[in-house]
Amino acid sequence: MQRKSYAAQTMGTRELRRAAQRSAEKRATAAPVNRQLSDRGHQHNEAFCLMWYACECGHRERIWNSRDGVTAFGVQCPSCKEPKLRHVNWNLDQYAPDHVPAPGQRVWIDLTRDRALEIARRTVNQVAKGNVPVGTDLNRIADAVYNGGMSPDLVVYGYVEAV
Ligand SMILES: [Zn+2]
Repeated sequence: MQRKSYAAQTMGTRELRRAAQRSAEKRATAAPVNRQLSDRGHQHNEAFCLMWYACECGHRERIWNSRDGVTAFGVQCPSCKEPKLRHVNWNLDQYAPDHVPAPGQRVWIDLTRDRALEIARRTVNQVAKGNVPVGTDLNRIADAVYNGGMSPDLVVYGYVEAV
């Protein structure tokens, strides 16, 4: 039964199609404003850049943006767990389109819709502490997280999550 309702939620519902259409329309209208390309011919200044991130606890790492997409300014620190790992030393951003990450290096990638759903589910479970209210629309939350495919995701290069 659990499985059935999950499938019903994830199959191409009309709502999902509408959301996709809305975000496509939004992008089309926003395009003229954002159409200005960077000096390197990309849509985002941070495209394919190696960027330093640092936390006040002392943690420091260099994260690579693997695509022409946005990155997050701040994320959770893997050393102290505080959401204080921030992009620093912007002047040291290095354009590196041919960079090959070292195993263990963290890399910005495009967020997938499946992963957005996973994040939505985890967030709701955390907030609701297992008592997810009946009627919670996970897909709607996932759509907000997914943001029409514009959201970044941070993964560790060289490791594959067990299925
Ligand atoms: Zn830290």
